[in-house]
Amino acid sequence: MNRKFLGVIALSIMTLASCTNKEQAATENPFLSNYGTPYEVPAFDRIKTEHYLPAFEEGMKQHKAEVDFIIKNRAVPDFQNTILAYDKSGALLDKVANIFMNLTECMSNDEMQNIAAEIMPKLSAHNDEISMNPLLFEKVKYVYDTRHDRNLDDQQIRVVEKYYTDFIRNGAGLNDADKETLKGINERLSLLSLQFGNNLLAENANFKLVVDNEADLSGLPQSSIVAAAEQAKKDGMEGKWVFTLSKPSLIPFLQYADNRDLREKIYMGYVMRGNNDNANDNKALIEEMSKLRLQKAQLLGYEDYASYVLEANMAKDVPTVDTFLAELFEPALKVAKEELKEMEKIAGFNLESWDWWYYAEKVRKEKYNFDENELKPYLSLNNVRDGMFMVANKLYGITFEQRHDLPVYFDGVETWEVKEQDGSYIGILYLDYFPRDSKSGGAWCTSFREAGYDIEGNKISPLVSLVLNFTPPTGDTPALLSWDETETLWHEFGHGLHALFSDGKYNRTCGVVPRDYVELPSQVMENWAGDPEVLRMYAKHWQTGEVIPEEIITKLENSGLFNQGFNTTEFLAAAILDMEYHKLKEINDDFNAADFEKAKMNEIGLIGEIYPRYRSTYYSHIFAGGYSAGYYVYYWAAVLDSDAFSYFKESGDLFNPELAAKFRQHCLQECGNDEGMVQYKKFRGQEPSNEPFLKKHGLK
Ligand SMILES: [Zn+2]
Repeated sequence: MNRKFLGVIALSIMTLASCTNKEQAATENPFLSNYGTPYEVPAFDRIKTEHYLPAFEEGMKQHKAEVDFIIKNRAVPDFQNTILAYDKSGALLDKVANIFMNLTECMSNDEMQNIAAEIMPKLSAHNDEISMNPLLFEKVKYVYDTRHDRNLDDQQIRVVEKYYTDFIRNGAGLNDADKETLKGINERLSLLSLQFGNNLLAENANFKLVVDNEADLSGLPQSSIVAAAEQAKKDGMEGKWVFTLSKPSLIPFLQYADNRDLREKIYMGYVMRGNNDNANDNKALIEEMSKLRLQKAQLLGYEDYASYVLEANMAKDVPTVDTFLAELFEPALKVAKEELKEMEKIAGFNLESWDWWYYAEKVRKEKYNFDENELKPYLSLNNVRDGMFMVANKLYGITFEQRHDLPVYFDGVETWEVKEQDGSYIGILYLDYFPRDSKSGGAWCTSFREAGYDIEGNKISPLVSLVLNFTPPTGDTPALLSWDETETLWHEFGHGLHALFSDGKYNRTCGVVPRDYVELPSQVMENWAGDPEVLRMYAKHWQTGEVIPEEIITKLENSGLFNQGFNTTEFLAAAILDMEYHKLKEINDDFNAADFEKAKMNEIGLIGEIYPRYRSTYYSHIFAGGYSAGYYVYYWAAVLDSDAFSYFKESGDLFNPELAAKFRQHCLQECGNDEGMVQYKKFRGQEPSNEPFLKKHGLK
């Protein structure tokens, strides 16, 4: 079963007769037989929207039959007839879901959205039916309980344990009454998190800073003023200026508005969202959610909710994450205090939280002045792309050869054949660069087919796609990327290498890594992108071919150090707050989120000039999203990537072949073979250190 969308796995005993009649072939559903294309790439030229629903239905039917076959098998459950059969079930469903889910993100239209609305509830019911099937669980449990008496190899034992844990974490091991309780908790939690998000939306919409005196716009850039005038017009207040709590309106106001009272007004509006004792107040929801999560964790046998979440992560347990955050917080806060001092020197008085952006901007101008337009001519899309291909070649020996004969879902999508040094085929990389109406915003890496093996042990080659929204070319000028876009391309390419290199016999573990590991392969590539030695190799002027001047490289490096004390401190404060909520072991009826936050932030010594990046009542990552006890993962991965890259740097060779081979094998190829930290240590020889991260961000 699809690893991305359905969480668990499947393999098909496909017995579909391949169609030999030519006339029939013209109208046949391309999902229901082999595509017959080179490397079996999706036949995008033949896939039509009317093919999805029947293919989904057939895929679910086959998957159900495969699982039924496991359940009804009268032989004693063993690895082959239970675990392997389950692992490889659902291949057809994966095949269609992989194409459909991806195209709803990058080639969407009303028809696709209607299909999604119809199929998503069916898929989730289908998935629940399997993952909560007591008969299937009984068989999995039997194999699990006897796993050490079966002559299984390490990988087989690992897969058995993973599946067993999946079932347990879903509540399959509970008695019927507890199962009902758990179901009730899950339903209530999803309702509460929806309400939390809706309250926040209402709070965002309710706040408006209305300016009717032009003098109060002093300091603001023209673009902010124009946008505020447009907003006023939309709100029926033509002739005035309206600023809102959306980031594009709020941040420039905090950075540039000379009127200090108005900065205070808008900032307090922002940090008090959900905490105004009105109908949209989120404090009571937080209390109820925290209690329910604790109850759920304890029902499933865990001490607290964070322990339940972290068990599945690389960090593994609460003390590890607590220590990790505390060790970074101390140096970050120290630097933030120095930044504050520096700003207060400029201001001549003691600053408040609503002054930070304003004076930081003054420091930035003085110390880090950097015009991105100086850099862009050296970052033409093709140069940046060829640069990352070159680095991958230097590290891993792999080559990229453009294909012009493979079907694509949109004209302009590039296809690249990726090969080993010896010429053997690895997979296909799709590159989809520019925005269009049918594409969601942002950037991501995805697969049309994941690497692995079929039930007969034949290798399945990966089809990987990077979807981006870069500034398109204009006239004769090619697409010139900003630094942010450049890093994004390398970042997604790092995910792409992970997907291309993944190898493993079982779907449950092949390429599968926990949430606090998943950004290591991607972020580590950003280090190469920005290294002066590498920049000199690929950042060349698109017209003259001139290598990027040293002066621009220095400015770029320095700009990465700006305001890092503040950024790191506000992030870590939020990550610590998240952990505090989820490691509670009992919650009294007089619990109050605002008081709790205040007490916890005082405990860590957070200064009054800085709030956590997310305060409790608008912390949607953890109360309306999937990041509870998981906000730390961003920095966890950042420490890993800095540490990994420093290993190359310290070796004196950014392309050290021995280290590259180890990184590829343990951290990309076989990353699912063992727990994240074990795999990392196989590469690094030791646990990661915070030092390289702190140094990189000027915190040490
Ligand atoms: Zn990423």
